[in-house]
Amino acid sequence: MQKYSIHEKFTPMKNARNGEKVPVVGQSLEKLESIVKEMGFPRFRAKQVFQWIYQHHIEKIDEMSNVPKALLAKLSETHILHPLSLKLHTPSELEPTEKFLFTVQSGEKIETVIMKDGKRNTICLSTQIGCAVDCDFCATAKMGFQKNLSAGEIVDQFIQVQRRTTLPITNIVFMGMGEPFLNYKNVILAADLLNHSEGIGMGARRITISTAGIVPKIKQFAEEKHKYKLAISLNAPNESRRETIMPITKTHRLNDLMEAANLYYESSGRFPTFEYVLLAGINDSLKDANQLIQLIGRQPCKLNVIPYNEIGGKYERPSEDEIKSFLSQLKNVPFQVTVRWSRGTDIKAGCGQLAVD
Ligand code: SAH
Repeated sequence: MQKYSIHEKFTPMKNARNGEKVPVVGQSLEKLESIVKEMGFPRFRAKQVFQWIYQHHIEKIDEMSNVPKALLAKLSETHILHPLSLKLHTPSELEPTEKFLFTVQSGEKIETVIMKDGKRNTICLSTQIGCAVDCDFCATAKMGFQKNLSAGEIVDQFIQVQRRTTLPITNIVFMGMGEPFLNYKNVILAADLLNHSEGIGMGARRITISTAGIVPKIKQFAEEKHKYKLAISLNAPNESRRETIMPITKTHRLNDLMEAANLYYESSGRFPTFEYVLLAGINDSLKDANQLIQLIGRQPCKLNVIPYNEIGGKYERPSEDEIKSFLSQLKNVPFQVTVRWSRGTDIKAGCGQLAVD
């Protein structure tokens, strides 16, 4: 597997690779205004285009029925509507979960998952093709890093999934393939587009960005005062254990990560969520639970325990009894504990199971 540096590689939003047409999905309202103006049409036409793509999730440019045909013809000369093409749509046999396989314009594949849980319909978006972070237990890591997704490629996952399901998507998590904070600019641009009140209009508190712990980017996120929720994949009760399963710990030390989590809390007033993937014999003992309480107990936070989804490697999910006893050790802790029983493991749509050839 080829190794890449874990520095951010910024893919410009324009996404025009080698004379390819530029996708309209991914353009901000301001950008659309300048495109429309350049084509000789009044500014208000941009808002119409914006609403057609982000609110009505149209498939083709010529579906914009109240936009002049001459503008649509000009737009079609230089632009396509969607940066992604849907290749496969797989519903789970067991649960209300569906997985979508898309290709980007240059042919690489990405996956997106939607799952229903009570009144919530959550979409799990990918942010990169592959991942450079190399967490030992994650299937995406085995692909290595290929490239960053543009803001349009991230938002288009939402648009294309929403038009194919009758369930209104109520929540968005950036927890699919990739490390969002190694594609920071595009992820924030995408979140801003998903949140835009004239477009998709998803509330900021219904958008969660999950990071493996890129400390400078967590700090930047806190300092820029974004309104989105933050989740941090902790996965171990101490630094040495974390280093063995998440080598990123050598670059971004656990103390610094905890400090950055606190900075997020202080600047936003929101509790960061620590995610803790439960791996049999690695981080699931009662002693581990106690160490975890020591580590995060004084930090205002939430804890999300994720029983491991197997990917055919060396790690295993603990038994039900082991999971229960780990959780019972977390009774009466000063933070809220939730358990994420991943959905759609029969179609490899669970956390950490996303990977394509
Ligand atoms: N790179 C980001 C987001 C993608 S992973 C991050 O690390 O947060 C989303 C979540 O799935 C993370 O908390 C990760 O620790 C968890 N995860 C990865 N592989 C898993 C697996 N096989 N089973 C269960 N959870 C897994």
